[in-house]
Amino acid sequence: MVRHASVRQYVTVHRGAMKLALPPNCKRSPVPHIRSSRPTSLYPAMRGGLIGRRWGTGECLRKYVLILLTFAALSPGCVDKSALLAKPPDQLVSQVQTLLPAAEKFVVRNQEKALRLGHPLTSKYLRIAKELGIDKADKIRIYTVHDLPAPQDQKLADAARALGYNSPDIVAYTYGYGIWIKDGNQDNNGVLIHELIHVRQAERMGLKEQIRQYLTQLFIFGYRQAPLEVEAYDGTTQYLRSASP
Ligand SMILES: [Zn+2]
Repeated sequence: MVRHASVRQYVTVHRGAMKLALPPNCKRSPVPHIRSSRPTSLYPAMRGGLIGRRWGTGECLRKYVLILLTFAALSPGCVDKSALLAKPPDQLVSQVQTLLPAAEKFVVRNQEKALRLGHPLTSKYLRIAKELGIDKADKIRIYTVHDLPAPQDQKLADAARALGYNSPDIVAYTYGYGIWIKDGNQDNNGVLIHELIHVRQAERMGLKEQIRQYLTQLFIFGYRQAPLEVEAYDGTTQYLRSASP
């Protein structure tokens, strides 16, 4: 899917609804996290008055650093999201498994509708699709609509809402070879190329695996940082930069 370019692209994932408390990405030093998450009263000996009184200043600092390093090692505040994706925790796997049947049904039905009612790519976008590496570009259909579809299944609808999937800013969704696009965006190069990259992903991964991966990635990374979305956004930028005018 793609959001309108003028709209803020980052989505705040409502992690609470997913029963997963994933901390933010660990790009910063874990030390401020530890310090801010622990009341200073836990460290009375480190506060001004005692430094240099019970311990010498050097010894106190050494102990202070040691305690910080211990907490850094034990703290759950620092999660490698790529490692999490490579080996998702059981709770996440079961969340995704629960949603998968409804998600597959939703995607397959929307693909079928687009294939039935949509129109084939124009010669310009057929060429772009082939340049992007799509094998069966002639199967793709663009289905222009006023409103994009929303899941009927309650659990899937709740997850979609929590993950920012049904935001009004979204202008297109891709379901296999079917691209649903909001009226007015069907000639938008950036939107079309982004969605074509999602078609390529489905072709390479298989539709079911793409759905499973996409859901898993949304839970771990949120929409904009999900690797399948990063590939689509970055691939679009690269294509537009390299394409001849
Ligand atoms: Zn997308």
